[in-house]
Amino acid sequence: MSEYGYLLCVDCRVHIWLGKAIKNDDDQIVYFAVGAKEPNWRQSGLTRSVWKFLADHVGHHLESVREFSERYNQMVEDDPPEGPYVEIGDSSLTGPTFDEYLSGWPGNG
Ligand SMILES: [Zn+2]
Repeated sequence: MSEYGYLLCVDCRVHIWLGKAIKNDDDQIVYFAVGAKEPNWRQSGLTRSVWKFLADHVGHHLESVREFSERYNQMVEDDPPEGPYVEIGDSSLTGPTFDEYLSGWPGNG
C-alpha cells in the first residue's frame, strides 16, 4: 500500500508533501520518491522549497511525518479549531506553488 510523507511546521500550520515513502523490509522509510522510484531530491522546486522552509521556520516545531500517523490525522482534520494547514507545492489547493514560494528568495542562488 502506498504511503506518503510530509514536512510540516506545527506552529505555522503549513506543510510540504515529501512524496511517496519508499520502505525497506522492516517498514522503515528510506527515501521519498515521485512516480515509480525517482528520488525526490532530484526535483529542484521541491528540494529548494524544503531548504527555504527550514530557513523560514528556524526555531519552530518542525516534524517529518508519515501518512496515517497521529500528527497526519491532525493535519488533515476537517475544520480544526486552530485553523487548517496550508500546503506549499505544485498540487496544492491551499497555498503557493513551489515557483511562487521561491519567488524572490535570495537562497535561489
Ligand atoms: Zn513555522
